[in-house]
Amino acid sequence: MTLKLTDVVLTYPDGDRTLTALDHVSLAVAPGEFAAVVGPSGSGKSSLLAVAATLVTPASGGVSIAGQDVSRAGQAARTKVRRDHVGIVFQQANLLPSLTALDQLLVMAHLAGESPRTAAERARELLLAVDLGGKEHKRPHQLSGGERQRVNIARALMNSPEVLLVDEPTSALDHHRGERVVSLLADLTRKNDLATVMVTHDLAALAAVDTVLTMSDGRLAEGTPPRAH
Ligand code: ADP
Ligand code: MG
Repeated sequence: MTLKLTDVVLTYPDGDRTLTALDHVSLAVAPGEFAAVVGPSGSGKSSLLAVAATLVTPASGGVSIAGQDVSRAGQAARTKVRRDHVGIVFQQANLLPSLTALDQLLVMAHLAGESPRTAAERARELLLAVDLGGKEHKRPHQLSGGERQRVNIARALMNSPEVLLVDEPTSALDHHRGERVVSLLADLTRKNDLATVMVTHDLAALAAVDTVLTMSDGRLAEGTPPRAH
């Protein structure tokens, strides 16, 4: 399994008590598997992604990414695992307003200390893969919401991750553009053998996934995706 959470408990301080955001959550996502996480607001979906992204440390339980156990790892080791193996797509595209689509991707490679030539080649390939081949030199304000989200996805793939974590990618998009982003995520998951976890409110998106996980009050239940026949 590329991503594995075992009996994870995550708590936040809440006044003089603690709030349990993840209550003994276990999850395993294989290479090439597209999993969706659904559930009401406040049920712990973003917390689950934050743990899987090594951005927060659970109170107890195991987190394994690309075969490495990060649950007891220090900050530096976690950052390295995240940089080498995890792609993260947040709800809002968070693109830098002054940069072209191509440069949004190159900033990532620059931060990782990659050679500019290899990085530019890879960035162009990724923009093609998300269907933005002709728009490399456009800045965010010249792109539609759907296009910006696709730049965001391409950027998350710059480090060739094994695990892709996506929080509500369609919430700012109309139905048609949302559908396109989800089918792109499904394609990329298969082609790149990614273990992808997507949090979504969008029931139409569930037709494209392999697994549906339902969060409620910090607990996770596995179900089968509804299939259109
Ligand atoms: P969802 O993404 O399903 O809406 P979250 O994971 O954001 O749920 O939140 C789960 C619970 O944890 C909620 O009760 C929320 O208020 C609480 N929570 C989330 N992040 C924090 C934080 N940084 N500090 C304190 N409480 C938090
Ligand atoms: Mg959330």
